[in-house]
Amino acid sequence: MKAEGIYKSFVGVQALKNVNFSIRSGEIHCLAGENGSGKSTLIKIISGVYTPDAGYIEFNGKQYTKITPIEAINNGIQVIYQDFSIFPNLTVMENLAFNSELAEGRKIVNWKRMRTIAEDAITKINFKVDLDAYVGNLSVAEKQMIAISRALMFNTKLIIMDEPTTALTKKEVRNLFNIILKLKERGIAILFVSHKLNEVFEISENFTILRSGELVASGSTAELNDKKFSYYMTGREFNQRRFKPVNLSEKPIFEANQIGLPGFFEDVSFSLHRGEIIGITGLLDSGRTELALSMFGIKPISHGSFSINGKTVLIQSPRDAIKHNLGYVPEDRLTEGLFLPQSIADNIVISEIDRLAKKAGIVDQVKRKTEIDHWIKELAIATPDPNNACQTLSGGNQQRIVLAKWLACNLDILVLNGPTVGVDIGSKHDIHGILHELASKGLGLILISDDLPEVVENCSKILVMKAGRIVAELKAEETDEKTILSYML
Ligand code: ADP
Ligand code: MG
Repeated sequence: MKAEGIYKSFVGVQALKNVNFSIRSGEIHCLAGENGSGKSTLIKIISGVYTPDAGYIEFNGKQYTKITPIEAINNGIQVIYQDFSIFPNLTVMENLAFNSELAEGRKIVNWKRMRTIAEDAITKINFKVDLDAYVGNLSVAEKQMIAISRALMFNTKLIIMDEPTTALTKKEVRNLFNIILKLKERGIAILFVSHKLNEVFEISENFTILRSGELVASGSTAELNDKKFSYYMTGREFNQRRFKPVNLSEKPIFEANQIGLPGFFEDVSFSLHRGEIIGITGLLDSGRTELALSMFGIKPISHGSFSINGKTVLIQSPRDAIKHNLGYVPEDRLTEGLFLPQSIADNIVISEIDRLAKKAGIVDQVKRKTEIDHWIKELAIATPDPNNACQTLSGGNQQRIVLAKWLACNLDILVLNGPTVGVDIGSKHDIHGILHELASKGLGLILISDDLPEVVENCSKILVMKAGRIVAELKAEETDEKTILSYML
């Protein structure tokens, strides 16, 4: 399919300006761009939801200046939206067989036929699920598999997935990628919408990047690199800036003394000074995440000790950690770091609620508002209204809220676990800037990450973990990604 010279405007916004796009059978193509760049609008034009103001669409050589959703489906186009458009109060079987039963104009439901149809649909992608389960009770990944199975029930030639990995775990992303590769083998084209660099590199053969409604680049993914991708996405050049500690405290603020947690890590020692950012890296099962969790008391250590300002402290729960001014930014902010349905404002002040309370335990509204405004400004959180729910924000802005929440309670030590996973490039750069600034203000930071450029550029000291032990302690200015990787492996 091909789209040529597409224009689309909404009241006050030119969403697409002269955009060209094309995809062949069996091609995996990534459509990238920051939030608001016009990706969803382009998808909706291809699938007949919106009519373009100018330009045309071609399917197998047949031109359309406008198409209806039915025409798009008849041309083999299927879109899987972020909400999957499924019925949570119906069973898997009903969700899958509903359309074909309706299309046949049947008045009486033939349950046996429905079961066969549903069974066929899920076997096409080797997906195993209880056909009688209510879809509302399934995981996000399972719902997505149902949406894919349903898309394949038609004579599908192109499947469009709008940011399909947003709410998936790493393992689920892997599974999805395997399915995408199988679909490719069957000659189905996949248009994959993403703003995540690693996904673009891993899965797609070709890419198209939009910025503010304009086509900025398209071509073969093999010719794309980190730097070009960032530039195309944002229009900003990011100079490599390496973290250099200023004002290192003479004595360490935090020390781990031969700490251990059987089955996860053993004999780990390090010391952190004020003004310093220590990087801890390693493979997924190296123990790095458990180490992070132990510092925050979620998985308390069973050997060794922690000391703060030279005194041994007991950290056996997050409450203990917070008492010692130690904060933690978790790996999965969606499930652990934020109250997504609650307002941005409430999320920011939640951890300092005691401090904002007046004698009777009632929150001081003036103080509360001052705090909220301060952090929204300080961390440049892009929201028209702090009373909006956290889930209305982009990944980068959500992560700023997690940071704001902690900074509001005057920390000395901040442990961050994969703080920029799933965050768009511009925000990633800004978050790194915030970390540098916090260090210069005298916090001690521990950055746990498997993103090696991130560790090299933003830490002064790097600890490499392998099979639960620290196998190398490196000075960032004296090492590089290759060296770190050789220790990791
Ligand atoms: P993306 O999917 O890349 O985040 P969108 O295509 O959703 O971007 O949006 C592109 C621009 O068009 C944004 O500025 C958005 O606010 C605007 N926009 C999208 N849909 C509508 C609509 N139905 N009405 C008004 N403005 C819209
Ligand atoms: Mg979108």
